[in-house]
Amino acid sequence: THDIQIIGGGLAGSEAAWQLAQRGFAVRLSEMRGSGDTTPAHQSDGLAELVCSNSFRSDDDERNAVGLLHHEMRQLDSLIMAAGETARVPAGSAMAVDREVFSANVERALAEHPKVTVVRERIDTLPASGPTIVATGPLTAAALADSIVSATGSDRLAFFDAIAPIVHRDSIDMDVAWMASRWDKGSGPDGDGKDYINCPMTKEQYLTFHQGLLDGDKTEFKDWEMDTPYFEGCMPIEVMAARGVDTLRYGPMKPVGLDNPHWATEQYPAGRWAHAVVQLRQDNALGTLWNMVGFQTKLKHGAQVELFRTIPGLENAEFARLGGLHRNTFLNSPVVLDRRLRLKGAEHIRFAGQITGCEGYVESAAMGLIAGIMAAQEMSGMTETQPPRTTAFGALLAHITGDAEADSYQPMNINFGLFPPLHEVGKKQRKEAYTARAKSDLAQWIAEARALAA
Ligand code: FAD
Repeated sequence: THDIQIIGGGLAGSEAAWQLAQRGFAVRLSEMRGSGDTTPAHQSDGLAELVCSNSFRSDDDERNAVGLLHHEMRQLDSLIMAAGETARVPAGSAMAVDREVFSANVERALAEHPKVTVVRERIDTLPASGPTIVATGPLTAAALADSIVSATGSDRLAFFDAIAPIVHRDSIDMDVAWMASRWDKGSGPDGDGKDYINCPMTKEQYLTFHQGLLDGDKTEFKDWEMDTPYFEGCMPIEVMAARGVDTLRYGPMKPVGLDNPHWATEQYPAGRWAHAVVQLRQDNALGTLWNMVGFQTKLKHGAQVELFRTIPGLENAEFARLGGLHRNTFLNSPVVLDRRLRLKGAEHIRFAGQITGCEGYVESAAMGLIAGIMAAQEMSGMTETQPPRTTAFGALLAHITGDAEADSYQPMNINFGLFPPLHEVGKKQRKEAYTARAKSDLAQWIAEARALAA
């Protein structure tokens, strides 16, 4: 018998199991690898296997958002961080691990825990009752994915992510770019018809850019990605560019109806039209992140940064996320989950990890940690508390459960654009200010949560 079942023994499921077990709950952790099943990317049967890189990224908890997340997880007794610590390999200011030692550390800690039972089994349907955490990741097995689709009403769960790059608003040069909607139609943040940030190109700039798209280094598809449906409307920008020199000017880079006030003349007092325009659309409620409309791409990350910084106005662009195209499985969380990661209408089921729409090892583990704490609070009947919105936990949770735009919801790494902005702090000090505020608010939250539990 167990108090709660966790499906999936990856980064999120392992962390959630640890958090619950440490709070005294009996956990059944169901992992299909080791029962004759596997995913297209995993190589072993080990819990918390890192499928690709061996890096948890920056460990700088003063100037880096993922480093801050490391700090926050350590404050909450994270198994993933502890297992990583003793598996560390040299990687400068980043935290990288020996993947086998890391996975073995996680496996040992859970196997030895008296409150955890690891069962090697594949689960094909969402349990009808009983506290459950689903943490089956980007490669959720097909039958369970179908069951999730029936429960959520979403018509599709696994598909190609067509990710367009996302840019930090404060890195866009508004002396070159300007706010406007085509023909001035649109709601606008102030109801003024100025919904988009527009970056203008002359003919010469456009032709050079077009050639850059054709010549840029591209990533190849993996075999197992080939049989996943390819969505209408997610054609990579370079594929569209290859159809003809003007295809983009009739598509995502259409310049018509966009008067550029920076190019106003006597003849065109409202501003002239550019030869082509790159548009960015607001991506989060805070208005700190903007996505490049129609710019989903298979260009390699280095090539994207180099080429997209040639776009007028984006010369100093800082990217919160670069574009990409790969298979993924994730819920439309802002619509189907409540603020506590529970499935609306079936609150005994909670989701955690990448399937909720975070991206990355650390973020997935962090959302496992929070899901574990929330489930524990609920089962013990104590007052439920949320990590403050100003912490990395809170920022990620807010992105997943409501702040992101539901109709263009895409997985995202933690980044400072997800935090409530600190406009009053000078740009140079801003990162330190975000992390200082987060650390202090987290410490207070932990103290309050402990007092409630006592
Ligand atoms: P996972 O770690 O994938 O764990 C899910 C677990 O659930 C798996 O063990 C799986 O076997 C199990 N499972 C699935 N279905 C069932 C079922 N029906 N019943 C029982 N068990 C089931 N992130 C990075 O930070 N860096 C990278 O370099 C990186 N590279 C990636 C490469 C690929 C090809 C993919 C797909 C993802 C990559 N990611 C990377 C993202 C990374 O995988 C995830 O962020 C992270 O592993 C997700 O953690 P998770 O716990 O949500 O899922």
